[in-house]
Amino acid sequence: MPIRQLPIELANQIAAGEVVERPASVVKELVENALDAGADELSIDIENGGIKRIRIRDNGCGIAKDELALALTRHATSKIATLDDLEAIQSLGFRGEALASISSVSRLRLTSKPASQSEAWQAWTEGRDMGVRIEPAAHPDGTSIDIQDIFFNTPARRKFLRTEKTEFAHIDETVKRIALSRFDVAVTLNHQGKRVRHYPRLRDLSEAQQRRRVAKVCGEQFAEQALYIEREAAPYSVTGWIAPAQACRHQADIQYCFVNGRMMRDKLLNHAIRQAYERYLLPERVPTYVLYFWLPSQQVDVNVHPAKHEVRFHQQRQVHDFILQAVTDALRQQHALAEQETST
Ligand code: ADP
Ligand code: MG
Repeated sequence: MPIRQLPIELANQIAAGEVVERPASVVKELVENALDAGADELSIDIENGGIKRIRIRDNGCGIAKDELALALTRHATSKIATLDDLEAIQSLGFRGEALASISSVSRLRLTSKPASQSEAWQAWTEGRDMGVRIEPAAHPDGTSIDIQDIFFNTPARRKFLRTEKTEFAHIDETVKRIALSRFDVAVTLNHQGKRVRHYPRLRDLSEAQQRRRVAKVCGEQFAEQALYIEREAAPYSVTGWIAPAQACRHQADIQYCFVNGRMMRDKLLNHAIRQAYERYLLPERVPTYVLYFWLPSQQVDVNVHPAKHEVRFHQQRQVHDFILQAVTDALRQQHALAEQETST
């Protein structure tokens, strides 16, 4: 076959393979956009595990009418402009891929109204050349995205969807991570028109208040027993909650690690945490934690994985030792206290 440029729709569908694994990935991308837009209220409506429909409404900055079409095209972003920006990422998104990818594998409608615009507009793509249609709509300040029939035009991907129950469980987990990542944002999750989760916005970000949201997400038991960690050694800082070793269980369901506010499954951080727990844990128990690690954005590369599940730290050794030390100290202190109690 001769070499040819791929049609736009096919190129977008290929890119979608990397970002849109299942309905929960759509929820993650759309919520990240809402947070980047400064929203502090998110409402997520799901039908049939997200396979039929996903709707997300936010009260963020909105998208101007003349930028709606652009927002749906690939490599279009308002978040970075130069390589320097890429090396010091402040936003959750920056690749300009999510909306184009999602709209290439579903029926997407984008409705938005910036506060400065008197009316709302709705955009959607049509046909093989992904032409964008635009018409007037009714919407308060902010943005709504309506995704229907995910993978309707990519049968091979559709086959990999699991049951509605399983897909919804993935969405619920995604929403938990969001709730843990932004205590200052209200999040509501509805399934089949019924409210499933509601995390009200915290106006007061004290540890006690935050712990209440942690209790809602991770359960009362974890929140009651967890030790609070707070440590700073420039340029690093970590805060969060870890279970005392004797309270850790077999399930690895509470292992949340955020790097600069972004949920991660990072091998290096996991290793450091595991190592700290090692000498205290009973056999076959696993560490239980919700930790927030912060470092200068120049010292971490988030552009490693299309879905941004992984990061690369420039100074791996230092990061590892910092986390190891912070967790070890908290566990050691608690262990010493517990020993004292049992000996008196
Ligand atoms: P990225 O997030 O990487 O920039 P996306 O394809 O996810 O790429 O979004 C493209 C652009 O559309 C964003 O850069 C942003 O300007 C705009 N956008 C998307 N979602 C929203 C939203 N909920 N509110 C305001 N602007 C949005
Ligand atoms: Mg995005």
